Amino acid sequence: MRNRLALTLFLVAFPALICAQNPANTPHKMPAKTQSASFVHRSALVIDSHADTPQRFVDEHFDMGDPLGGGQLNLDSARKGNLGAEFFSIWVDPEQYKGQYARRTLELIDSVRQQALKHPREMYYVTTPAGIELAHREHRLAVLMGIEGGHSIENSIPLLRQYYTLGVRYMTLTWTNSNGWADSSGDIDDKSIPHTEQGLSEFGKDVVYEMNRLGMMVDISHVSDRTFYRTLNISRAPVIASHSSARALCDAPRNMSDQMLTAIANYGGPNSKGGVVMVNFYSGFISQAYRDAQKAIEPEMNKAVQGLKDKAKAEGKPVPYADIEKLQRQFADRIPRPPLSALIDHIDHIAKVAGIDHVGIGTDFDGINGQLPEGIDSVADLPKITEALMARGYTAEDCRKILGGNLLRVFREVEQISKQLQAEDRPRISEKQPFDQWQKQ
Ligand SMILES: [Zn+2]
Repeated sequence: MRNRLALTLFLVAFPALICAQNPANTPHKMPAKTQSASFVHRSALVIDSHADTPQRFVDEHFDMGDPLGGGQLNLDSARKGNLGAEFFSIWVDPEQYKGQYARRTLELIDSVRQQALKHPREMYYVTTPAGIELAHREHRLAVLMGIEGGHSIENSIPLLRQYYTLGVRYMTLTWTNSNGWADSSGDIDDKSIPHTEQGLSEFGKDVVYEMNRLGMMVDISHVSDRTFYRTLNISRAPVIASHSSARALCDAPRNMSDQMLTAIANYGGPNSKGGVVMVNFYSGFISQAYRDAQKAIEPEMNKAVQGLKDKAKAEGKPVPYADIEKLQRQFADRIPRPPLSALIDHIDHIAKVAGIDHVGIGTDFDGINGQLPEGIDSVADLPKITEALMARGYTAEDCRKILGGNLLRVFREVEQISKQLQAEDRPRISEKQPFDQWQKQ
């Protein structure tokens, strides 16, 4: 107590001295700086909107209690990184599981729920923003799910509804494959693939509407630019990009142009506060130099992957995703990792273009062959992001928004809008789908 009084007297007596020691001489920034980055990170509700760990649960029998074993997310790293909530990605390889999309989707969903059941003291399976906050208060990792790729619904609105019932709270309309009702940035230039006329078919519009009505966040990561703008026009709720970075800094079709960033911030319905772009950590999306180097070795890598697939086919076995990933990683390891500042540049750029309320983190951990910037090897390294942001002048409040506050706001708004839509009983865009008949009977 006495020491604090002495310090106060010192500060009152020698303010000029303090200012002189602060080279930037920006007193308004001082409170943020005096709150250490470590404290800010520890006290924040940190939400990652995308990790592909469920592939490991199913294919490798990986358990969240295991050591990382080459991955980026387990219970230990989540604790060290103060991860508050994870949206586990339910991704079905469209080639490998042709004809069994729903089965594989359900198995992945089950694997996530089994993990939560196995670790009740550390994990908490939740489906709402309030659930995320409750888990956080109990110092448990909130476990949520997002489907990656609309092909999982097999052109069935009832399947979409059942995924919602099982806890899925966002869906990317496509993965790298167009699915007949929404187009992907991954194959939009491939003339042999059928694409929609306007970005979304009539059924695609119904999917977006039904997601709005259910309270499932519409995720535009992976979609083509035309599908992106069409979706914004159709959606009655703000949308998210669960794992996309800025195209102005790294020219990948999966990244968002400045115009798209502004659009996400401004769309979402009459009283909306707008959507959020969650920055993808993948080196190939954050560094142009890395991307160029990748392109150079791509033909050789694709040949090796094809060789692996051909060999397995000859033996009558499927190739586990982990094996392909291992091979891709060997090639990736030849390219120098981008600096951490490259990742921070994307957060910074989106915060400047779209606004501080429209940026977050969607790591893509366990889905990018460990191709990550320097210093980021697992969820345990997330505090370094807060440190780097604060070093650039971001306040504690800014950091809390980026680390999870923004996504939570959008999730809440989507939930709110779903309640309004359910009360409205608005007619559907196409008359073909017997949407609610089963509910009304
Ligand atoms: Zn993805």
